[in-house]
Amino acid sequence: MASLTEYKKKRKFDKTPEPGPKKKKSRTGRMFVVQKHRATQLHYDFRLEADGVLKSWAVPKGPSLDPSVKRLAMQVEDHPVDYAKFEGVIPEGEYGGGTVMVWDYGTYEPEETDDVSAALNKGELKFTLNGDKLKGSWVLVRTRDRQWLLLKHRDYYTTNEEVTDLAPVSILTRRTLAEIAEDEGGNIRKASTGDPKKIPRRTGVKRRKKGAKAKVWHSRAG
Ligand code: MN
Repeated sequence: MASLTEYKKKRKFDKTPEPGPKKKKSRTGRMFVVQKHRATQLHYDFRLEADGVLKSWAVPKGPSLDPSVKRLAMQVEDHPVDYAKFEGVIPEGEYGGGTVMVWDYGTYEPEETDDVSAALNKGELKFTLNGDKLKGSWVLVRTRDRQWLLLKHRDYYTTNEEVTDLAPVSILTRRTLAEIAEDEGGNIRKASTGDPKKIPRRTGVKRRKKGAKAKVWHSRAG
């Protein structure tokens, strides 16, 4: 059963600006968010809404749109649904201390099931993401304990370009990690090590040209 007990135990809510441990449902009940988090190490927190919480995985290298790439995803404690809008700075010395960016945001649809929790308990969930940067079909597969793999299925959105490099900034505010740190009183130098040296002008992923039809079952990648 989804619970925010572990989330609550790990944090001091008089010290961190993170949302409190309250369960709720978003309008769709199927929200997803990816947060870029420069803590001790840079990683991407991948979260799917289910049972009034965000089921969460820390993905060290971030999601990849290349179906031949398996990304390690360590399951972490469930987070509150309100966490999806959290962008800011967790004070140094507190749990997860560092800068947090809302890197992508949207809804998802489970594939081949309506029961997300049951699929996760069995260790495999296929789903379609409707985000700004991440779209199309994906799967999370448990390999052991809290260790999972996050994989892209081959479809229209497949590419071997690194989406984390192409689209490095916040989907909410278009800020880099360093800019978030600067605005919110964080460690700018530390945060900037999570930013690419050159911020590409193109901040989203490739979109199809106006009027072009999506070929959902064909890869565009060579
Ligand atoms: Mn994190």
